[in-house]
Amino acid sequence: MRGALDQRPELDRVLSHEFMHALIRTLAARGVPAWLNEGLATALESGNLEWAERQAAAQPPLPLRALTSGFGRLTGAQAPLAYATSALAARRLLDEAGGFAIASLLRDLGEGVAFEAAFAHRIQRPFAEFSTIP
Ligand SMILES: [Zn+2]
Repeated sequence: MRGALDQRPELDRVLSHEFMHALIRTLAARGVPAWLNEGLATALESGNLEWAERQAAAQPPLPLRALTSGFGRLTGAQAPLAYATSALAARRLLDEAGGFAIASLLRDLGEGVAFEAAFAHRIQRPFAEFSTIP
């Protein structure tokens, strides 16, 4: 614990990230694509996503559709890009649709509504269109 307290900023970042995961789980215990779950937790752990913008600029983007299941199976090189892609997509979703719409989307997913249908209803645009914009 002493080691963690010596690294307060890192501890804050990890707690914020895990708190977001816990909050997302209370709204939707299932059905949340990994990019949305990790993206919200990563985008909201700190306001600064410059690292993600650098990652995304340096490599070809990963399609969000390829990031629906957990990131555990990704290789060392893919994982940072997966987090960067997801964080930037989540921030764009927050900017475009707002937290209320995202909370409604998460609740729908938790109730078993199919992702594409819930997205179109709550975000007011097709996921296919949202996901093709870098
Ligand atoms: Zn996470």
